[in-house]
Amino acid sequence: MTQKKILLIEDEVKLARFVELELRYEGYEVTVCHDGREGMALINEGKFDMLLLDLMLPGLTGIEICRRVRKTSNVPIIMLTAKDEVIDKVAGLDSGADDYLTKPFAIEELLARMRVAFKHCEDKMMKKVLLQVQDLEINTEKRLVTVGTEAVELTKKEYELLLYLVQNKNIVLTREQILNEVWGYSYIGETNVVDVYVRYLRAKIDEAFQKKYIHTIRGVGYYVKEE
Ligand code: CA
Repeated sequence: MTQKKILLIEDEVKLARFVELELRYEGYEVTVCHDGREGMALINEGKFDMLLLDLMLPGLTGIEICRRVRKTSNVPIIMLTAKDEVIDKVAGLDSGADDYLTKPFAIEELLARMRVAFKHCEDKMMKKVLLQVQDLEINTEKRLVTVGTEAVELTKKEYELLLYLVQNKNIVLTREQILNEVWGYSYIGETNVVDVYVRYLRAKIDEAFQKKYIHTIRGVGYYVKEE
């Protein structure tokens, strides 16, 4: 098996060194950098299998790096943040991170989260590339959503929600199921986030194209209907 390449962007030099050595010991190939801008340059040059991003960095923040990377790539991203930055968790996940770890963390916890993120990524790759409901199409390889011939621009969470609904078309999904699948077990926040994102999706798809894809079962949940 080829070594997985990890890019760690962390400006706390001691912590970065510690994580680097532990990951090397586990058999990962690790590149370390201490500055956001340099990190972004490395990402643009190299091919990494996972990014570990500190949130507060000189140059560019972890969130900004995450946003930029997500425009072109599905590479797994885990954010590392200091305790007093917990408030930014939602922003971190919404910018496209797969997971989030609060410092200080046990290295075993990081390794476990990394394995989960890799597994999740592989599972996604195994799934069908092209999904369709009526004339709505999702190309999971290109992360492209189209209605007819028109492309629809979605944020990462909107995309993941739509994908989950379409993968389970004609099946009513409860808010809890959606929350677990799309936001993950570690999500802490308002449960009405599902309703909020369904509204975003409806505005961008149903309303924009004058069609009805996403149906509500009152008090239960949502489903996408294949006519
Ligand atoms: Ca920092």
